[in-house]
Amino acid sequence: MGAHSTQGRLLIHAEECRGCRSCQLACSFTKTGEYNPSQSLVKLHRDLTLEKTSPLILPLHCDFCGGDPACARACTYGAIVFEPSSERSIEYRQGGPRESD
Ligand code: SF4
Ligand code: SF4
Repeated sequence: MGAHSTQGRLLIHAEECRGCRSCQLACSFTKTGEYNPSQSLVKLHRDLTLEKTSPLILPLHCDFCGGDPACARACTYGAIVFEPSSERSIEYRQGGPRESD
C-alpha cells in the first residue's frame, strides 16, 4: 500500500570499486541528513592483500531508498547498480578477469 517500492535488484560489481566513499556519503545523507560514512548502510570492505575495497550493503536496514537508491546514483564507477525488479535482492558479482581452471 506504500507509495514507494523497496523492491529491485542492487548489483554489486566489486571489481569496479575505487574506494571513493561517494556511496557512503550519499547513503548517510539520505538516511540521517549528515555526510558521515560511519552512518552509512554501505560498508567498504578492504582487502589488505589485494589493496582493494569493495562495497557491502547492510541488508536489514536498507530500504532501497524507496526504489531510487542513493548509493547507486552516487557511484559513477558502476560498482553499485540498481535494476527494477519484482523481487528484492542484493547480488554480489565479483566479475573481472578470471582464470579458468
Ligand atoms: S562503490 Fe562506488 S561510490 Fe562506493 S566507494 Fe566504491 S566506487 Fe566509490
Ligand atoms: S539503497 Fe540502501 S544502502 Fe543504498 S543509499 Fe539507500 S539505504 Fe543506503
